[in-house]
Amino acid sequence: MAKTRRKIKEILPLIDAVAEVVDARVPVSSRNPELRSIIGAKPLMILLNKCDMADPAATADWIEYYKSKGITAIGIECKTGKGINAFKNAVKTLLADKLKAYADKGMVGKPLRVMVVGIPNVGKSTFINRIEGNNRAKAENRPGVTRGNQWFTVDKQLELLDTPGVLWPKFEDKTVGERLALTGAVKDNVIDRELLAVRLCEILAEDYADRLAARYKISGDYTDGYDLLCEIGKKRGMIMRGGEIDTERTANMLLEEFRNCKIGNITLERAKKNA
Ligand code: GDP
Repeated sequence: MAKTRRKIKEILPLIDAVAEVVDARVPVSSRNPELRSIIGAKPLMILLNKCDMADPAATADWIEYYKSKGITAIGIECKTGKGINAFKNAVKTLLADKLKAYADKGMVGKPLRVMVVGIPNVGKSTFINRIEGNNRAKAENRPGVTRGNQWFTVDKQLELLDTPGVLWPKFEDKTVGERLALTGAVKDNVIDRELLAVRLCEILAEDYADRLAARYKISGDYTDGYDLLCEIGKKRGMIMRGGEIDTERTANMLLEEFRNCKIGNITLERAKKNA
């Protein structure tokens, strides 16, 4: 992190804004906790990616939440390209003063430069590939730009720079690790899969009782994640010899179904709980 921090700080004078890509299903856990302190007062945009898998109502709440904090946030789907044009427009709106200042000084051709950051696996590469197409700019040709930084030309008014290094999530927070493992952003072989499934059950019981009913025919209130996991196992007939519920098999099935959106579009972290 120290090296990335230094590299980003070096680059700051060359950029106009920072776009942080996060996973719309876990907008809290998929952020880098130090980003704001690294970028100081640089304008920041949040790109809630993977909206195709997130709960649209929860994404709308997050966009409102950030708006109330004075931060532009938009939902995008890098896989399909949805929201990419909205991103270009949002940058130009966010930096309208800068564009006007360039125009006033006769610097009409000067592009806005945005650094794209985010923890691993949120979709930064997919985003840049999708937005940039094939006209990759050569870093070497740009005066004042450190060799090795990857600039991507989007159009005459916009250039993007990939994160110079790796920004990690807040791994010391156990919940963060669990939620990123749930979404598949970190390998789940470091965390017990049954525990992950129990955590998922806790969230489903609290926010998605309707989906539990629809997919697993679960009725009633569950306050305990493990009890719910057992009930799901029972409904699916995952019973071992001797009549015990096979919670390990149930956990694997549930995680797989969640990651493939079989339970529907689910957001694990809600804006209302963050307020
Ligand atoms: P990076 O480490 O931040 O550069 O992340 P990548 O661009 O490599 O993406 C990580 C994974 O997320 C890949 O498997 C992508 O295909 C997937 N991904 C990226 N954007 C989306 C999206 O909008 N929707 C879905 N469903 N998957 C996405």
